[in-house]
Amino acid sequence: MTDGFDRHDHSACVKTALAAAEAACAERGVQLTPVRRRVLEILLENHVAMGAYDVLARLSEEGLGSKPPVAYRALGFLTEQGFAHRIERLNAFVACARPGADHDPAFMICRSCGTVAEAGQARGGPLARSAQAAGFVIEQAVVEAEGLCPSCQTGAQA
Ligand SMILES: [Zn+2]
Ligand SMILES: [Zn+2]
Ligand SMILES: [Zn+2]
Repeated sequence: MTDGFDRHDHSACVKTALAAAEAACAERGVQLTPVRRRVLEILLENHVAMGAYDVLARLSEEGLGSKPPVAYRALGFLTEQGFAHRIERLNAFVACARPGADHDPAFMICRSCGTVAEAGQARGGPLARSAQAAGFVIEQAVVEAEGLCPSCQTGAQA
């Protein structure tokens, strides 16, 4: 659905993600507490990955908590539930761009502006097929590609 590099109706993007998170929480019987919801909203503000301390700074500005565990617990919940992903390379978090879809996240990370686009990668791709052939059980497979987004490529050429 969403490509973070495209110009798109981002308010629709935010609405879809929040609705998907609410529906998933109701279905799984877990609580989307005000802090968890707010952290998801903060991550959804743009398609740039945020570190836990950036999230914490926002929470404390808004009076929602100033202790690191508050941010870490909320981020842990969001990643566990698949509403957000952790980007190891950046040690940061992004909201999931394909909420509700069963997928192995794959990211394209712009090294210039920090925009992160999540590639639509369904489960059972080439890696999964090779693993199956090798009798290997994949527990976690996160693809992180680094490069330049379309607008940063234009900027570099100008
Ligand atoms: Zn968007
Ligand atoms: Zn995702
Ligand atoms: Zn860029």
